[in-house]
Amino acid sequence: MVDLKGQYDEIKEQVNASVLEVMENTAFINGPEVHSFQKELEDYLGVKNVIPCANGTDALQIAMMGLGLKPGDEVITADFTFAATVEVIALLQLTPVLVDVEPDTFNIDPEAIRKAITPKTKAIVPVHLFGQTANMDAIMEIAEENNLFVIEDNAQAIGANYHFKNGKSKKAGAIGHAASTSFFPSKNLGCYGDGGAIFTNDDELAHSIRGIVNHGMYERYHHDVVGVNSRLDSIQAAVLRTKLPKLDAYNKARQDAARKYSEAFKGKKNIVFPYTQGTEDTHVYHQYTLKILNGKRDALVKHLNENGIPCGVYYPIPLHSQKAYRDDRYKEEDFPVTNQLVQQVISLPMHTELDEEQINFIAQTLIEFVNQ
Ligand SMILES: *Cc1c(COP(=O)(O)O)cnc(C)c1O
Repeated sequence: MVDLKGQYDEIKEQVNASVLEVMENTAFINGPEVHSFQKELEDYLGVKNVIPCANGTDALQIAMMGLGLKPGDEVITADFTFAATVEVIALLQLTPVLVDVEPDTFNIDPEAIRKAITPKTKAIVPVHLFGQTANMDAIMEIAEENNLFVIEDNAQAIGANYHFKNGKSKKAGAIGHAASTSFFPSKNLGCYGDGGAIFTNDDELAHSIRGIVNHGMYERYHHDVVGVNSRLDSIQAAVLRTKLPKLDAYNKARQDAARKYSEAFKGKKNIVFPYTQGTEDTHVYHQYTLKILNGKRDALVKHLNENGIPCGVYYPIPLHSQKAYRDDRYKEEDFPVTNQLVQQVISLPMHTELDEEQINFIAQTLIEFVNQ
């Protein structure tokens, strides 16, 4: 699905040198590489504060802690996403409220958010799924009307742009009250282990979060709040500093690959290729995900695997049906889109090293099987 070795070979000398330098200066935790990376990412995203942490799941949890969400507060998020999003809500004893997504973008449906709001609702967590920005105009408007926080789960869309109706643009993750991202190796900006970060334009919130990631300490050995230990290693920051200047080129390579796939699938029966709203830069294709309409998805997965083509099903089970997150509050008729998507979606190999020959082979193998 991804070609991390191919990408590494391209940047090997630079990465190796920067990692070895960390070894030499031995500032393994909170070294200068971490601070430099933080500043460089702030500049890239156009966001006032980046707080590096240990992984994307921690980033979400810490953002919620920093915003002061309390047990019993309701947090609305998408039913069709990776479990981390809902996991941290549940861990903090907040009440997850899962809602349906849009059939074309797979992103959280603003109308479903509106219907789910109660007096206990405190926050909305939109996930920019598969690399495409959610409808932030509508989500920010709903949040403002109802006095809610917005925490963007930007684990899959770093580098994507969002264009507001008023003509302004911002990077995904620079829009809500806070945002989280992951530097898991296969993400669009991946390190060589675990890593993550929280973003916010709110300086007070940033200050609070900088303490939370470090055991609730704002002054050495004074613990003002209950915190966690969540840090980005200096070695990972060194890798990320090498890769950040290449992120736009990496995302462009993904967009080029996506365009070639979509050209091949255009007009083909029973195959729906990813829909992008507006300009192409709103989607950085963390995944290239098709819908297969004739019930052959599972057979297709098997067929592709037999032909040496990796593929994935993200996600095969709606979160509201997962054992850990089931609840009597949920009714099946509230999730028509997610319930259908879990049976239709398939994600194809998508990375920075795909060439035209590979794309054509994958597309032709798929088209022949689906419509044979
Ligand atoms: C990867 C991912 C996370 C979690 O990131 P980790 O670094 O693996 O903890 C959270 N949300 C979404 C949508 C993700 O894709």
